[in-house]
Amino acid sequence: MNTEHFQFWPARLPKTLTLPETTLYDNLVLSAKKYPTKTAINYYGGTLTYRSLTDEVERLAGYLENELGVEQNDKLLLYMQNSPQFVISFFAILRLRATVVPANPMSTTEDLAFYVKDCDIRHVLTGEELYSKAKPLKETTSVDNIIVASYADYIDREKAPADIPDAVLGTGEPFTEEIPWEKALANTKDPSPYNGAGADVAMIPYTSGTTGLPKGCVHTNDTVQANTYGAAAWMSMVADTVTLTTLPLFHVTGLVHSALAPVASGSTMIMLTRWDRDYAAKAIEAYGCTHWINISTMLIDFLANPALENYDISSLEVIGGGGAPLPAAVGEQLYERTGLRYVEGYGLSETISHTHFNPPDRPKMQCLGIPSFDVDARVIDVATGEEVAGHEEGELVVNGPQVFKGYHNREEENEQSHIELDRKTFFRTGDIVKMDEEGYFFIVDRLKRMINAAGFKVWPTEVESILYKHPSIHQACVVSEPDEKRGETVKAFVILNDHAEEGIKEEDIIEWSKNHMAAYKYPRIVEFRDSFPMTSSGKILWRKLQENE
Ligand code: AMP
Repeated sequence: MNTEHFQFWPARLPKTLTLPETTLYDNLVLSAKKYPTKTAINYYGGTLTYRSLTDEVERLAGYLENELGVEQNDKLLLYMQNSPQFVISFFAILRLRATVVPANPMSTTEDLAFYVKDCDIRHVLTGEELYSKAKPLKETTSVDNIIVASYADYIDREKAPADIPDAVLGTGEPFTEEIPWEKALANTKDPSPYNGAGADVAMIPYTSGTTGLPKGCVHTNDTVQANTYGAAAWMSMVADTVTLTTLPLFHVTGLVHSALAPVASGSTMIMLTRWDRDYAAKAIEAYGCTHWINISTMLIDFLANPALENYDISSLEVIGGGGAPLPAAVGEQLYERTGLRYVEGYGLSETISHTHFNPPDRPKMQCLGIPSFDVDARVIDVATGEEVAGHEEGELVVNGPQVFKGYHNREEENEQSHIELDRKTFFRTGDIVKMDEEGYFFIVDRLKRMINAAGFKVWPTEVESILYKHPSIHQACVVSEPDEKRGETVKAFVILNDHAEEGIKEEDIIEWSKNHMAAYKYPRIVEFRDSFPMTSSGKILWRKLQENE
C-alpha cells in the first residue's frame, strides 16, 4: 500500500518535514533568544517570560548537577501535575543530557516504585500535593532525593482572569525534610556547557502491556523533535499562537502538542493544573487562545457549560485531540458553537503522540486521519504478517521518525513489537484499522487487551493482578464496557472464593479497588459469576465475557 500521496494533504504543507538539527533544549534557548520578554507560560495570572523560563532551567540544572551529582544519561522521575515547575524540570533534566521519566499524577506509590526500579532512579521532582505518595520511595527504593514544588508560588491571584480552583492553591506548608523547590532554584552554580545531541535519550514514558507490567518507551531528542515540529506545522503554530494547555503534560499528547510545540514556535501557553470549564472559557476570552488540544471528556464538559454563551471564544482557530475517538455528536455541537471542526489525531506513547492527523481543512469524524509527515503506514494481516489487499481490515504498522527506539530493558517485547516489510522496520500498533478510499484511517478493533476510558488506558491484566489480592476473590476478569461519557469504562467479572466475606456486594469490591489502584483504573462495575467461559487450555475467554455471550 502506498500511503505517500494523499488527495487531501494540506496544500500549505510540504510532504516531507526537514527537521532542524537542534535538540529540545535548543528549541527553548532559541525561542528565548528570539523572544526574551515574551510570555512563555501564563499560570493563573503569573507569568514566566522565555528569558526567565530559561534562567530557571539553568538554575535548576546547576543545582541538579552540582549539588545532587546528576550526570548525562541519569534518569529522573518527574511526578508533577501541570505547572511551570513541570516545564522547568523537564528542560533542566534535558539540559544535563539526562532523561525524564514522567509519571501520571494518579500513580500509586507502588506504580512509582516500579518505574524507579526499572530505570534505576535516584532523584524525584514532585509537587506538594503528590509528595505523600513519593515519600515512601526513599525508604524502599534507590531514591535519595526528592525536590518538592508548590505550584502556587507561580500564581498571581490579582492578575488571574477568574477564581482559581482551591485544589491548585496548595497547602503552603514548607517541606523541610526534603529539598524545597526554592532551595534548588536559589543555586548560583552554572551547569557544565551544553553539548547535547539528537541521539540523547530525552524521555521514557511508560505504557502498560499485555503482561500487566508497564514498559518504558525510549525516546530520543530526535524522535520527540519529529512530532514537536510535526505538531507545530500541522496545526499552523506560529509565534503569535496562544495555546490553552489543559491536557496532562506527563502524557505524550499533552506534552508534545500543548508544551513542546508551543516552546518550539516561541508562543504562549495558558496553563491549567486542574480542568475547570469556567476558568478555561474565561482564559480563552482573556488571553485570546487560538489552539486547544483536549480529550473528549473535557470538550463535552466545556460545551455543556450553561455560562459558555457569555464568553467570547471566537479567538479559537484549532481544536483537536487524540488518544480516543470523539463522539460524533460532540463534534457537531462544537461545530455549531464555534464553526470549527475537531481535528482528531492518532498515535501512541511508542510514537510520542501522533502518527496520523486529520487535515484541518477536511477532517472526518471519529477518524484517525491520514499518516503525518514522513510516516509510512501499512495494514497487515495479523496471522500472516503480509500486507492486506485494498481496503481490508488489519493491524496498523508504522514506520516514521517519531517511532521509539524500543522498550527499556524488554528484549522479548522488542522483538514482538516490530515487523519487517520492504526491508524497513515497522512498529506494530496492536490496533485494527481500515483505510477508506480517500486514504483516511479508522480504528475498528484492538488486538491488545486494553480499555480506552476517555484516553486513559487501562490494561485488564494489571487490574486483575491487583484484584487477585482481595481476600474474597477467587478469579477476576476485567473487560471494557461501553460508557456514554468515557466511551469505555472498566468492568470486572468476579468469582468469589470459599471463604469470601458474607454478603459481600459489588460496592464493597469497587470501594476496595478505589483504595488499591489509580483513580482511572478501578472497576466502575462489578458482576459476580459462578464460573467463566474457558478455553480447553484453561484461559479465560475474556472476549466472550466482554460481549456478554
Ligand atoms: P497511549 O500509548 O496511552 O497514547 O495509547 C495509545 C492507544 O490509544 C492507541 O494504540 C489506540 O488504541 C488509542 N488511540 C489513540 N488515538 C486514538 C483515536 N484518535 N481514536 C481511537 N483510539 C485512539
